[in-house]
Amino acid sequence: MDAITHKRAADAQAAQAGDAGPDIARRLSQHLRALRAERGWSLQRAAEACGVSKAMLGQIERGESSPTVALLWRIAGGFGCALSDLLPPHAGEAAEVRDPRRVRSRPASDAMLVAPLFAFDPALGFEVFELTLLPGYERVSEPHVGGVVEHVVVQRGSLEVLSDGSWARLGEGEGLRLAGDREHGYRNPGEAPVVFLDLIHYPRGRAA
Ligand code: MN
Repeated sequence: MDAITHKRAADAQAAQAGDAGPDIARRLSQHLRALRAERGWSLQRAAEACGVSKAMLGQIERGESSPTVALLWRIAGGFGCALSDLLPPHAGEAAEVRDPRRVRSRPASDAMLVAPLFAFDPALGFEVFELTLLPGYERVSEPHVGGVVEHVVVQRGSLEVLSDGSWARLGEGEGLRLAGDREHGYRNPGEAPVVFLDLIHYPRGRAA
């Protein structure tokens, strides 16, 4: 496939994935209520733990707002759960072939698409995502829970990653391990979507 065909295919995927917002909002609404009930937390307490406003968390809980992936990360951190716990479910059969096109979604109208290829497994301590950054996307993420390590491998396009205070450029096939519990970020300075895998490892006893 040439670059333009690639771009068209990725744009078409992005457009398709845009329809998944309501699914995410519904699932998240139910899941957040359950998590909060489990912990016996008030909305105020949960909002403080997640570092988001009570109004925003309330909207998400009522399914009135679809959070970005960055916001999902903060919520996961607040509840001490994994990011994939907050995304729509998919078959957990170990032998099943994972197709990112079936699980890729675009929360909110953000320029980052997320596909949970392998949901968090407490016994193994990690989850694997395929992430797509549309052109111009840039985000500096606040630290995730202590000990989180991300392993990024570029599949298509060029990705710039902020780690240890400086931006590194990764080409297709190149990878980088970075401390997710410090400030880090991703950006796509190019004109085509960037697709990469992110294996996120949680320290033992966290995100369980
Ligand atoms: Mn991160």
